[in-house]
Amino acid sequence: MADDTEKKERVLHTRIPAVLEGELKAAASALRVPVSNLVRTILEDAVKLADRASERVEDRLSKTAQSVHQERGRLRRAVERLNPLADVVAYQPVVIAQASTCARCGAGLEAGEPAGLAVRSRPGPPLFVCQECQPRPKP
Ligand SMILES: [Zn+2]
Repeated sequence: MADDTEKKERVLHTRIPAVLEGELKAAASALRVPVSNLVRTILEDAVKLADRASERVEDRLSKTAQSVHQERGRLRRAVERLNPLADVVAYQPVVIAQASTCARCGAGLEAGEPAGLAVRSRPGPPLFVCQECQPRPKP
């Protein structure tokens, strides 16, 4: 049931001031993500933060929108949460010891199965990718 609701995504059209559009485009380009991903991240982030601070989502959203520029660092981290493999620098072949899931496609990884251990530029919990999701070594 929850899975079903999560998959049902909607397209929203809205008017935004030209200045904000410029800020969003500049921030998206600096973060190297599509503008639509950034907008989605900002919305999710605003809902989460508003929840925590028990303020209205609209207030939080307008605060975020006004400060897209200053909040770039926080937005970058939020965007990276959408893509857990954003800071991967290499993949090391390993054999799975405990059942896990592929961080890219979500496929189940069973104990004994070969996989790629994601080597990341920053510390974090181990991430694995299935063989199909690993880049092929150049011959
Ligand atoms: Zn995979």
